[in-house]
Amino acid sequence: MSAPITQDVLTLPRKLPASDKQNLVGLTRDQLRAALIAAGTPEKHAKMRVGQVWQWVYHWGVRDFDLMTNLAKDYRALLADHFTIEIPEVVTRQISEDGTRKYLVRIAGGHEVEVVYIPETDRGTLCISSQVGCTLTCTFCHTGTQKLVRNLTAAEIVGQVMLARDDLDEWPVPGAPKEEVRLVSNIVLMGMGEPLYNFDNVRDAMRIVMDGEGIALGRRRITLSTSGVVPEIARTASEIGCLLAVSFHATTDAVRDVLVPINKRWNIATLLDALRDYPNLSNSERITFEYVMLDGVNDTKEDAHRLVDLLRGIPAKVNLIPFNEWPGAPYKRSSGNRIHAFADILYHAGYATPIRTPRGEDIMAACGQLKSATERARKSKAQIEAETARG
Ligand code: SAH
Ligand code: SF4
Repeated sequence: MSAPITQDVLTLPRKLPASDKQNLVGLTRDQLRAALIAAGTPEKHAKMRVGQVWQWVYHWGVRDFDLMTNLAKDYRALLADHFTIEIPEVVTRQISEDGTRKYLVRIAGGHEVEVVYIPETDRGTLCISSQVGCTLTCTFCHTGTQKLVRNLTAAEIVGQVMLARDDLDEWPVPGAPKEEVRLVSNIVLMGMGEPLYNFDNVRDAMRIVMDGEGIALGRRRITLSTSGVVPEIARTASEIGCLLAVSFHATTDAVRDVLVPINKRWNIATLLDALRDYPNLSNSERITFEYVMLDGVNDTKEDAHRLVDLLRGIPAKVNLIPFNEWPGAPYKRSSGNRIHAFADILYHAGYATPIRTPRGEDIMAACGQLKSATERARKSKAQIEAETARG
């Protein structure tokens, strides 16, 4: 944990006060069309204009209407009069010694969310947030101790992808050959918040990210993680089509009720029924069961055997997450031996069971450690402890 960190506070030009212009980022194609028509675009040109603007914003990453060179000057001026192209502001960027990058991002209202970029040899995963804080109160999760909550807009969700591409300098250069390996090749909705409690905005944002004439990430490169909001699970398949991960974390309702309190509303049996019905379920699109390893809480061999029984019949992989500690956390990480013994049982039952290597621990970027810096500063460790003890 004493690894060196680099922190550069980016000094960005101050944004002008918010205008009443409409932000084009985050609008679906239909919404964009309506907005362009309302601003005076003739209906007969609307489809073509949507295509052009879309490509500038999401394929080329352009933020300035003046650079949209295939549009007539007058039309560019009209756009600039009515619209902005705005994404959230990066306040700080920290880079871990393992290359993980954590961005603290400011959104409207002065709220902050965190975005984490995790480079690997064959891929780069961007972990994005769907809410400021989280209304759920999973007892092992740092975000769950944060009081302040609001849903992110579609613009703020897509904007996280765009700001990472800005920082990594990943927008295409006209005339240059296409990069073989993308820097942001995968997206996981595993940052702050419960994505299925902000379904419409998450869906619209992911559809924009998947659109073939823009950022163009395939639906299988996006994984949405939910704590188990059962009524929204089927819609995730039909309206987004991405892969699904579930924060499972326990093998009995008694333990899951404590760790993932939403279990009191939709218990393990109800959740598993919804997962069995997940429309895209197949061996190539297995559901990921996330399982955080908490010392003495959910990490016995009996737990592993019970998990095998529960998963029977569901194309699944299990992702064991060594618990990432945070100041005042009421749990400890299971020992390496325990984690491996648990993994072995699953492996022998035929499950791929990667143990997630914590990334970016030195900058508190690992799963479940995210929480806005202002919140952190405001609350003392003692306060957090008192709150977690109250459950
Ligand atoms: N709200 C969603 C997505 C965000 S959390 C959900 O709960 O699924 C992403 C993953 O990190 C979840 O599986 C979550 O349970 C796990 N997690 C949360 N806190 C953690 C911690 N301190 N250590 C390890 N994993 C944690
Ligand atoms: Fe919210 Fe997920 Fe954390 Fe639970 S684990 S408090 S659902 S962010």
